[in-house]
Amino acid sequence: LLALGVATLAGVPTPTEGLDALVCDLDGVLYRGDSAIEGSTDAIARARSAGVKIIFATNNATKTPADYVDKLASFGVRATETEIVTAAIVTAEECERRGWQGRSAFLIGGRGIREALAGSGMELLAGEAARRAELIVASNDPEFTYDHLRTAGFALHAGADFIATNGDPTFPASDGLWPGAGAVVAAVEKVAGRRAEVMGKPHKPMMDAIARRLEGCERIAFVGDQPATDLDGARSMGWITILVLSGVTDSAQAGSLDPQPDLILPSLAALELG
Ligand SMILES: [Mg+2]
Repeated sequence: LLALGVATLAGVPTPTEGLDALVCDLDGVLYRGDSAIEGSTDAIARARSAGVKIIFATNNATKTPADYVDKLASFGVRATETEIVTAAIVTAEECERRGWQGRSAFLIGGRGIREALAGSGMELLAGEAARRAELIVASNDPEFTYDHLRTAGFALHAGADFIATNGDPTFPASDGLWPGAGAVVAAVEKVAGRRAEVMGKPHKPMMDAIARRLEGCERIAFVGDQPATDLDGARSMGWITILVLSGVTDSAQAGSLDPQPDLILPSLAALELG
């Protein structure tokens, strides 16, 4: 029995052995705010030279893929726009997949989601006209006002579809936690008396959007710092889960997670590809 146990252990691949693809969350994994997390740049380079396909996945819907290419380049990480999956890109892609091109929409959100929706052929309304929008898209918007809430409320009570880019209640800024899209979405939901359909991780639209980009890959690992978004999303797809302690989760919190991630690393720098 002992011999069998040893043989079995020896035959079990480490979670990162033979990986085809690595899905990387951004904030808390590659950088914190505007500073790179030490060693993350080299880890991405090592994965690339091992032939591992990389996808960068963030729930932040305020920036465009081009913004992220620039931001990653400033840390020495080479990326293409097609490798970057934001909740904004997923929202626009989902509208297209549903054949909603040409539909009118009222958006509460920043530049990233605005450009993505306009690019997918949605007609973005403003002012009084927006009260008759066929779709409400709620996201994080630093210019969010009572007027936005009233406009969205009129449209939603008239039967508009209701989508949220992501549900994150907060996001980490240099001086602490700032209100995230989830806070704005909750306000709109309260007025509407119904729930938004959320696009970002851990929800299906974003997980499926990532999977479409990794077609043909069999061993996929997701590395993130947020158990409730990164790890739950990855687990729902049957992917390998890697938690890094360089972001919002510390080792005590990591130890009490149930279920446990497949691998816990101090940071991406410790990633070893078998
Ligand atoms: Mg994160």
